[in-house]
Amino acid sequence: MSDPADFTIAEAARALRSGETTAAALLKAVRRRVTMTEADLHAYLTIDAEGAEASAAAADEAFARGEDRGSLQGIPIALKDNMVTRGVETTASSQILAGWIPPYDASVVTKLRDAGAVIIGKTNLDEFAMGSSTENSAYGTSRNPWDPERVPGGSSGGSAAAVAVGSALAALGSDTGGSIRQPASLCGVVGMKPTYGLVSRYGLIAFASSLDQIGPITRSVDDALAVLETIAGHDPEDATSFRGELPDFGSQVDRGVDGLRIGVVSELLGEGTEPAVADAFGAMLERLEGAGAEIRELSLPSTAYALSAYYLIAPAECSANLARFDGVRYGLRVDGGETVEDMMGATRAAGFGPEVTRRILLGTYALSAGYYDAFYGQAQKVRTLVIEDFKQAYQQADVLVTPTSPTTAFTVGERTDDPLAMYLSDICTIPSNLSGDPGISVPIGVDDAGLPIGFQVLAPALAEPVMFRVAKAVEGLAGFDARPTLANSEGAA
Ligand code: GLN
Repeated sequence: MSDPADFTIAEAARALRSGETTAAALLKAVRRRVTMTEADLHAYLTIDAEGAEASAAAADEAFARGEDRGSLQGIPIALKDNMVTRGVETTASSQILAGWIPPYDASVVTKLRDAGAVIIGKTNLDEFAMGSSTENSAYGTSRNPWDPERVPGGSSGGSAAAVAVGSALAALGSDTGGSIRQPASLCGVVGMKPTYGLVSRYGLIAFASSLDQIGPITRSVDDALAVLETIAGHDPEDATSFRGELPDFGSQVDRGVDGLRIGVVSELLGEGTEPAVADAFGAMLERLEGAGAEIRELSLPSTAYALSAYYLIAPAECSANLARFDGVRYGLRVDGGETVEDMMGATRAAGFGPEVTRRILLGTYALSAGYYDAFYGQAQKVRTLVIEDFKQAYQQADVLVTPTSPTTAFTVGERTDDPLAMYLSDICTIPSNLSGDPGISVPIGVDDAGLPIGFQVLAPALAEPVMFRVAKAVEGLAGFDARPTLANSEGAA
């Protein structure tokens, strides 16, 4: 049982320091898991075998010298492939970036490397992080390790699947509308979106800049805390990154929920919620109440319009951000006609997949002169209403809770022909992207088919300490220790 690939970061960190294992052995165990599972899972786009071995050797040398840079030293971590890595292909799962080798590291990558982490490779995502299933990847769909007929969620589906199955001890994802929390929920792992601006976005290939945020996907709440502590903080390269003093993220984590006010958002427990999800969620509320929390039902009326506002704001921002992919400086170039405009048109037509094209068209339309006020302007007003709703709610509750996703993992192909059904996957996660507040998904159980169910804890901006506190209590009360079929050697053999 105690294959090091199944360790949490905390367990691995202890084993590395007691001499029970080495960074090289840990990497080997994780690579073995990659070999065992990738044919079924397709969590990775690129494995950086050489780079990872060099980092593991460097971590072991550091340990031998008595040099200790903290809990991530020697830990194998995967990166969603929309974070740029020097010398390692970065595609954002798009044909338009096929073969692109970035000349620099994203700031989060630099921070992980400085902390001695071992970066194994780059994980699959929906093209440019647009989607909820990884089915929009130009390089094939990742699969859910609990049932390979099903999606792992998205857009950080490869990262979540890798962590669930043990082909990484932790991973980074990005969350614009739920892309860390929803796949974490569908894969039975912890996924956390920090307060907007807490983690630098320098070197994250931009989707919707006012919403994008990088965060950890891990196997425990403590591990999410450890990763966040390493990657958070002001970065002069990202003008939107937070300049103030960072909260002490772990300061309350072990205090339990006694005396806390927990708000349940009534609008986010609607018709679309599967009975198994609603039951598991309700049972957890009872346990939290039993542990001393006060449960209050609260209304966030504007969340009914949050999805519509998001699907104007995110495409509008993406249409501007993706204008840079024009075949001139890097990435794909398709010669198509006489002029440079012809070349750009041909390149973009060939390089972008259908969902990305749909978003660019929608966004360009919403921003166009005659429609700007009616669509984009209106959506920004709704965003303000959502922010106001949250402010009101947080006067009556310390945290808010919802299911992370209204359903468990759906089957591959089930929602691909129905963008609206796909968009509804993120109904519970999108409001806190509009408000910029933090959120975390913690696994609490499985449905009748054995598929994981996630519980979401939301908190006001910079209130990560109380969010982690409730998340840790939920984790303890759930006692979730099921493992995906693909993670055990018999299942994967
Ligand atoms: N599924 C949402 C979308 O398609 C959210 C994606 C994300 O958070 N990157 O836009």
